[in-house]
This record gives sequence, structure tokens and C-alpha cells, in this order.
Amino acid sequence: MKTSRLAILACLLVAAGAFVVAHDKDSGTVVSLPAAGGPTAAAVAAPAVVDSARLFGDVRTLASVEYDGRRTGTPGSHKARAYLQQRFSELGLTPFGAAYAQPFSFTHTSIKGLFMPGRPFRTEYKDAANYVGYIKGSASPEKFIVVSAHYDHLGRNNGLLYPGADDNASGVAALLAVAAYFKSHPPLHTIVFAAFDGEEIGLRGAKAFINALPFPRAQLALNLNFDMVSHNDRNEIFAAGTSYTPSLQPVVAEAARRHGVNVKLGHDHGRLLPGGEAEDWTDSSDHGPFHDAGIPFIYFGVEDHRDYHQSTDTFENINQPFFSAVANLLVDVAATADRTLK
Ligand SMILES: [Zn+2]
Repeated sequence: MKTSRLAILACLLVAAGAFVVAHDKDSGTVVSLPAAGGPTAAAVAAPAVVDSARLFGDVRTLASVEYDGRRTGTPGSHKARAYLQQRFSELGLTPFGAAYAQPFSFTHTSIKGLFMPGRPFRTEYKDAANYVGYIKGSASPEKFIVVSAHYDHLGRNNGLLYPGADDNASGVAALLAVAAYFKSHPPLHTIVFAAFDGEEIGLRGAKAFINALPFPRAQLALNLNFDMVSHNDRNEIFAAGTSYTPSLQPVVAEAARRHGVNVKLGHDHGRLLPGGEAEDWTDSSDHGPFHDAGIPFIYFGVEDHRDYHQSTDTFENINQPFFSAVANLLVDVAATADRTLK
């Protein structure tokens, strides 16, 4: 999921005939960072550290027919949970308490249920679960960086499967790649890995996590959130959130110059603010509840594409070389953040 709340509000207002919102695709305050190999490159590319076969295998599995689109509470979601259980365990992550699974429940109300036949107004989700594990820091274990990605997607609608390869099997695979890196390169700070459920139904997993943190909130220093990181035809990915915390800009810039991906800073200014952009992604994915709680975040994601929230969001339609490069970039960003966090 990655549609801004303001965009939804604007659509509703337009649909209601209230007024017409000028919707230009002006990119506003976007900053393009120098990449390795580019004309202004200041550094050579870093060697790849991510196991691409493993990375692609994670996406292929989570987006396969057997996982049935991973909708919260469904048998397909339970298959994804079993997969996360196995991968977290293989990676040797430490659970908070007895298990990686942190169950939660919620009630979802849908305005569409008021006028669409067969669509419920209220739905109880009693069987949701985040998967959370950590690697303890060697120097400052009391400070936590949370790397997050949602594993749920849309499941099926009228029998049609929505596999959610880019959205967001890709983010989960990148999260697992970051965990694999820190397992062999122990971090200074404690790195928490959180695979969230219920994102597509309103960022429910991230909200549940923030509301019942398994450690004191004051120790939570940063959220790195990955949602849709494998599908772009222009070799381009956005890092949103640094306008709120400018000290994070050099972290992204330092890593970006070691990788052949075009990294852009942006999509984090409200359109109603001076210099605001057409699309503000501040609340568009699981970093939103962290931001609401006053936690700095960097969100990595691509622009919406032709397969976004379509049945064609398949493993075959992701850009494999791009995804591999992005995963290496994300590992580097996490390592740079760990090294430079004060
Ligand atoms: Zn998503």
C-alpha cells in the first residue's frame, strides 16, 4: 500500500463534487542524490553483500499461489507466518519474550460497506500477528533501530489473486537480507526486525506494535521502513522522511553514492505546506505510526506502477537487477545508520 491519505481525501472531495483539486505531478522539493557510476559520482560501487538468489527466492515464495495473497487472518497469511518463523529462526534472531509472533486484533470499518452490496461495514480481524526479532547491539544495545516491512497483501477479490510481489514480498525479502548482513557483521545498536501484518487494512500492525512496544519507547531511535522496493523502470527509488530529520540526509546520501541506483529524497512534504508535493507519503505505509509517535523514519519505496494493487504484481514482473541493487543499498543504509547514530 502506498497511496497518500491526502490523495484519498482529494478523490473523495472530487467525487462528492465539493471542489476540484488541481493535481499536478510536480515533484516539488525532490532532491536527486549522486549514485555510483553517475556523472557526479564521488565513490566507486560497494561490493554486493546480498545473496540475490536468496532475495529472489523469498519474493518468489511469498508471492506464490500457495500463499494466496497473504490477506490478514487467511490460510495464506498463516503460510507466510510459518515462512517468517522459519526464516527468523534460521537467521538466529532473538524474540522478545517466548515467540516471534506478536498477535493482535482489530475492527475495521469501511465506508464502502454503506453503499456497496455484499461489502461489510464492520469487519472483526481477530487473528492478526506481527513477527518481531532482534540482534543485540555490541556498543549501545539500549538504542534500537527498527527495520520494518509489511508481509500482508490483498489476498483474493472475486476469485482473482493479488500476489503482492512488489507490495510487499519485496520489502520482507530486503528486511531478511538486512538481518542476514547484521548476523555476520554485528551491529553497534540493537536492530529490531518487524514484519507487520494488517498494513493494507490501515497500518494495523505498525499501530499495534507502537502501542505495545516490547521495549521502552525512549530507546526507539529510528525506523527504516521498506514497502515496494523491487519494481521501477527508471532505476529510481525514493527515500522519504529526511525532511523531518535532516541529520538523516547524509546517511542516505553516503550509502547512495556507493550503489548504482538513483535515490531521490522527497514525498515527505504536505501539499498544503510551502514547497509541498503532489503526493505526501508520510502516512502511506508503516512508518506513519512511528512518525505519529515522534520517531524519526526513512521510508524506501518506488513510485506507483502499472502493477500496483493489480493481479499482475507477480514475481515475474519485478525488476530483478534493480531489486538486487536496491537490497544492497538498503543494507548499506542500515549499516551506515547503525555506524553514525548518536
Ligand atoms: Zn505495501
